[in-house]
Amino acid sequence: MAPETHGDPTMHRDDWLARLAEALGSDDARRVAEVLPRRVWDDWAVERFRFWWVRATGMEVTQSIQHHQAHQHLTDPADRGADNSVRLVAGKTTWVRVYVRGGIFGTVHGVTGRLRVQRRILGFLWVDVATLSPLAPGTVRARPFLDYATERGNVAHTLNFRVPPETFWGNVRMTVTLTDGARREYDTRTVTVDATLRQTLRLRGILVSYNGPTTANATPGIPTPPPLNLAAPSLADLQATSARALRAMPVQAWGSFTQAGATLAWTRPLDDPRLNAGGCSANWNLLLNALTNRRTADGNRTDVVYYGLLPSGIPLGVPGCGIGGLGSAVSGDQGTLLHEIGHGYGFQHTPCGAAGATDPSYPTYEPYAAASIGEYGLDTSTGAVLVPGATSDYMSYCFPQWMSLYQHRRLIQHARLDPRWENDQPWLDTYREWRKYRVEEDLPYPPDPWRRADMRAQQVISVTGVVHPGGRPEVLTVARVAASTQLDGRRTGLTVSLRGRGGEVLAQAPLVRLTTHGGGCGCDDDDTSSYLFQAFVPDVEVGDALTIDGDAGELWVRHAPEEPAEVHHVTAEPGDDGSTNVRWEAHAGKEPEFWVQATQDGGRTWDAVATGVTGDGVVVDAGALPAGAVELRVLAHDGFTTAVSETVRVEVPARAPSVAIMHPVDDQTLPAGGALQLWAAVPGVDVGRDAEIRWVLDGHEVAAGEEAWVEAPEAGAHKLELLVRTGDGEAAAGVTFTTVAIEGGSEES
Ligand SMILES: [Zn+2]
Repeated sequence: MAPETHGDPTMHRDDWLARLAEALGSDDARRVAEVLPRRVWDDWAVERFRFWWVRATGMEVTQSIQHHQAHQHLTDPADRGADNSVRLVAGKTTWVRVYVRGGIFGTVHGVTGRLRVQRRILGFLWVDVATLSPLAPGTVRARPFLDYATERGNVAHTLNFRVPPETFWGNVRMTVTLTDGARREYDTRTVTVDATLRQTLRLRGILVSYNGPTTANATPGIPTPPPLNLAAPSLADLQATSARALRAMPVQAWGSFTQAGATLAWTRPLDDPRLNAGGCSANWNLLLNALTNRRTADGNRTDVVYYGLLPSGIPLGVPGCGIGGLGSAVSGDQGTLLHEIGHGYGFQHTPCGAAGATDPSYPTYEPYAAASIGEYGLDTSTGAVLVPGATSDYMSYCFPQWMSLYQHRRLIQHARLDPRWENDQPWLDTYREWRKYRVEEDLPYPPDPWRRADMRAQQVISVTGVVHPGGRPEVLTVARVAASTQLDGRRTGLTVSLRGRGGEVLAQAPLVRLTTHGGGCGCDDDDTSSYLFQAFVPDVEVGDALTIDGDAGELWVRHAPEEPAEVHHVTAEPGDDGSTNVRWEAHAGKEPEFWVQATQDGGRTWDAVATGVTGDGVVVDAGALPAGAVELRVLAHDGFTTAVSETVRVEVPARAPSVAIMHPVDDQTLPAGGALQLWAAVPGVDVGRDAEIRWVLDGHEVAAGEEAWVEAPEAGAHKLELLVRTGDGEAAAGVTFTTVAIEGGSEES
């Protein structure tokens, strides 16, 4: 990190003299100064004079959390970092907070300025990319003194610039010039930062509908209410629910939101009691098993996190669950999504609240309490400062929560965020180099899987189920499928084996516990609680039996059926509503389970479409399949073998976009007159090319585009509408929010 530098004051000696004369109201100062040797003048007068004038004393470049003068508040030197040393990422909305000081005689009002943004190319050449005006209110008071916590804790005490995400990447040099808004320039200051790392939030949504009882805990004697019927949320809802994660995490502004197949139709209430103290509930285990199977049918991609998005209103005990690479909670719950995908990245709980076993490596940032985020955070959508004395890490059970120094560091270069470096050379060069290593069997989407060998799909027998208290395994699904074999869980000492006629082991894999103490659900990591498991046994041949074995011998066995499974006569007919009706004929034992997969690359790779189907057909809802020509196939599982059908081709019609508002959030309260972000979720739409996006605030069109910034309207209730039109149709979304006047929130005139 290059140090901040001032403009060279000695270059402006005459200017300083003029100001000194002006300040003193006479020419005496000039006469005194003229007789001094220049060096004495420079050492003595100029530097000291600067303290009488408006000057920039620091520049904090922050995206969600940052160090700035850390020694002023962190008492343990080990917790401190240099200014702006928390890694900044490319393509993310960035705030530059300029700290200013005024003369010794009093506050200087109306200090404003501009920010020049430059990017380095070819290793040495700086080119201008933008000159920015400050965010509303656009001016700041330059005071003689302001204590650290007050100044840092409120953006009203700094002059703030927002660097748009499309501008902020590479090696970036930013120079602020403080002015009085007219001719006079007070001071300049420069900071150079490294934003060469680009990371992407990549979620594969599994959209869940609910048709079932209002509660699992019906009271005897009280009539049962009619069942709930809740439609699945949309992919745009998933993106909107991710807004907080996109802001808090070190990822670029544009996430990758894709859908892992059709709506998962769920029928069991999730408010059933835990199986035992500290254990998961039976229905949560079953839902996680269904989500895990969908992930397996999708190839178990390792550069995404899968997310089961539940409809708002579904009966819930614990709000959400997360296991390695997979999370689940209700649509619209942005805080829980951030937390549960945290488990997806492998994070444990952190020590605050009733969080159970917690991450022993989480540091205490003295003087703050356990699980403090450790520095000042900033929510770039609202300018809200998250102070370390009152904000807890988002993996804890204390509130309010935000990104901590600790988790931020662990998210840098995380494989599930697809990290890539962009140096002064165009990133395409690197990209082309990687392409040379492309492997045919890799998965094509989300893109760039050839960068990691662990993405390579292998033919496996996926065995999933629940191990009950006391160690008794219950197998729920056996599926032979191509998938990545990475499992982020804990090995248990149990083994799953494929055996031949004489009982000899043909192939073997460890049984991995998916729900662990870090896994949400309030599950304890001890052997007295039930847990969800999965094992990927290499599918080397049909074999004669599958077994689960522990230290004490065989715990479970299943023998091959007399006749292997069969599936044929697959048909796929498009429906009027954009859905696709897939039907088949099959023989697959007494309790068959069918999966449907789709390919767009001639069968090289397969995506999940439907899982957990028990009948001889399924209606795939609109949106689950990409528009255009798609090939489908059916997998029939009989609990031991899997039959794969021939492929059938279907033409999926284009459809209207799915849209939602990411910011502001429904029912949010915001400061009137501040900078307000309008941010749309339009997954799958090429925003630059074929979409018209308009924002209507209280009946008046105020902005256009996927993201826009306006001044928050005056105090009161407001209605915001998002209108999107593409070549395939129109869609709209709306939120209501409230603005309030905040004392001291802007400079008094
Ligand atoms: Zn949790």
